[in-house]
Amino acid sequence: MKNRGPDPRAIYRALYKAFGPQHWWPGGVGIEMIVGAILTQNTAWSNVEKAIAKLKKSGLLSVKRLREVRTARLASLIRSSGYFNQKAIKLKAFLSFLDGEYGGSLERMGRETIRALREKLLSVHGIGPETADSILLYAFEKRVFVVDAYTLRIFARHGFLHSRASYDEAQRFFMERLPSRARYYNEYHALIVRTGKEYCRKKPRCGGCPLNRFLRREIRGVKH
Ligand code: SF4
Repeated sequence: MKNRGPDPRAIYRALYKAFGPQHWWPGGVGIEMIVGAILTQNTAWSNVEKAIAKLKKSGLLSVKRLREVRTARLASLIRSSGYFNQKAIKLKAFLSFLDGEYGGSLERMGRETIRALREKLLSVHGIGPETADSILLYAFEKRVFVVDAYTLRIFARHGFLHSRASYDEAQRFFMERLPSRARYYNEYHALIVRTGKEYCRKKPRCGGCPLNRFLRREIRGVKH
């Protein structure tokens, strides 16, 4: 492992000590996780949970049933996740991709290398880097670090990343410095999201935040 500059492992340790394990997406829920990764774009996870519960209740949370259901009905069931018409189209685009590339088999899809699968996922309508990497990490336990807006915000505020770091730059920063383990990446991303939701909002609540001691003294307590 390369280890240059600030060490994000110290941040992980502090967050894990403060929050403990987050239990995000344990294995064995492939299609549910992928649906979740697409629906969570631009919305809170609580809204996604409502949509997933509706899909489950309607017996639609399987590759076969999602393939069969009409797009308009799918859209109405996922309404709570926002942008539901667009998201229904994105889900259908993913299913066409799954059918076209892997004969509808998530197992076959999971046998792809990280690089090949990531490249293919990025070519699917509605799947950008964060969604692709969430699918790789959480559905297939591939060793990919997921970056989101909270990651960029927290690590820019702490001076680890510059304020306009791109997705790829941020991802490289972590992957060059962290142990290359899917479980570690999984837990780290979940801890970052928890920190972002509870403390590192637009207006940060540094007072009670477990990362407060990592702020440089001169900026502690100063509005960001
Ligand atoms: S709330 Fe403050 S201490 Fe916590 S992560 Fe954000 S900038 Fe850092």
